[in-house]
Amino acid sequence: MAKRKDLFEKVRESLTAQEKRLALEKERLAKESLAARPEIGSIPSAEFVEQATEGLSQERLAVEQGILEKLLMETRLALSKFKIGKYGICENCGKPIDRSRLKVYPQARYDLDCEKTLSLKRGA
Ligand SMILES: [Zn+2]
Repeated sequence: MAKRKDLFEKVRESLTAQEKRLALEKERLAKESLAARPEIGSIPSAEFVEQATEGLSQERLAVEQGILEKLLMETRLALSKFKIGKYGICENCGKPIDRSRLKVYPQARYDLDCEKTLSLKRGA
């Protein structure tokens, strides 16, 4: 049991660091997306077109922001579970989530069995 606790300490630390990193990255992307947005009603200049092809496109930025947002949400959710002592417990069946699974995916909300069942249901 002591080993499980050790792992949790590490996971908690890395999740805290990740949360900070993701929040910063989100801010950076938000600024970038603002900078990439052309003025409404303006005719795109040759200079702008050149920038647009060089830099990240608006769609690409939106996709990245979406992924980041989701990761940040999952990370914060996992951290909040530490606070209430529910970290590493499957949200569906209440069983402890496999340690090896938590190592690879510390934000996991379900154990492997439930994840499979739930994703099958979602896919149907
Ligand atoms: Zn489960």
